[in-house]
Amino acid sequence: MANEQRPPIPADIKREVRQRCAFGCVICGLPLYEYEHMLEWAEVRRHVADEITLLCDRHHTEKTKGLLPKEMVAQANDEPYNSRVGVSQNYLLHYAGTNVHLTLGGSVFKYENLPEGSGFAPLVVDGLPIVAFDVQQGKLFLNFIAFDEFNKPIIQIIENELVYDTRQWDIEWVGQTLTIKEGKSEILLQLVFQPPTDITISKGRILRNGIELLIGSKYIFNTNQANFFGSITTVNFPVGFSIGYPMPNCGAAIVIAGISRYQFDRTKAMKFLEQCLSEKLPDSGTA
Ligand SMILES: [Zn+2]
Repeated sequence: MANEQRPPIPADIKREVRQRCAFGCVICGLPLYEYEHMLEWAEVRRHVADEITLLCDRHHTEKTKGLLPKEMVAQANDEPYNSRVGVSQNYLLHYAGTNVHLTLGGSVFKYENLPEGSGFAPLVVDGLPIVAFDVQQGKLFLNFIAFDEFNKPIIQIIENELVYDTRQWDIEWVGQTLTIKEGKSEILLQLVFQPPTDITISKGRILRNGIELLIGSKYIFNTNQANFFGSITTVNFPVGFSIGYPMPNCGAAIVIAGISRYQFDRTKAMKFLEQCLSEKLPDSGTA
């Protein structure tokens, strides 16, 4: 009787469940979900990955109320919605307003009072806005795209609707933070959604056409040219940070062009990054 309390599901088991269920509710594919024991916990008293599935709030409620039969959940668990489709169900992010911010590796790109009918692209690679906000008919839209090493989109937000490619090693959404991993401790991308106006890219690698930006909590680092950027703030530039082929007449705050692609010394660049990160700030006051 003393051990009645249910222990939390271990992280490795949760990941196994997410991978098997293709990172969404098995019935509808929604990327916001709960872990659901298909066999009642009270009866089995164990956390086994094969016995746990993912259900969104709505389908979880329906199951609890007896409106969604267990057999249907089991059937969907065998063939999860997102595995069949290959991408997640769309999720509508609640962006609104006109004062927008992108926080990227500790740097802030903002636009205040974004006018009707105009756009703001805080991050552009090879002329393609990776993050963009625009206001149309009084509505704020966030657009975003990220690629893998092969230039294949892994996650996309089109006019506030988020969708991801489910063929990733792991995708986990906890609170406002969405993390895509390439391996156990390899974060490909970590996004923090702070609607109505803010988005943060807190960690990861921005990849496009052989250009790589490494994002850390306090830096943006371009491995192609070993360029280190920290604590930038731009306000009301139509383009914040543009790297690669420049956009014509775009009024960018920071432009880095003439990038050498694919052929560069990554090891040397990584050593330089380490050096930058270990350097004491000049005003730190220590001798
Ligand atoms: Zn669902």
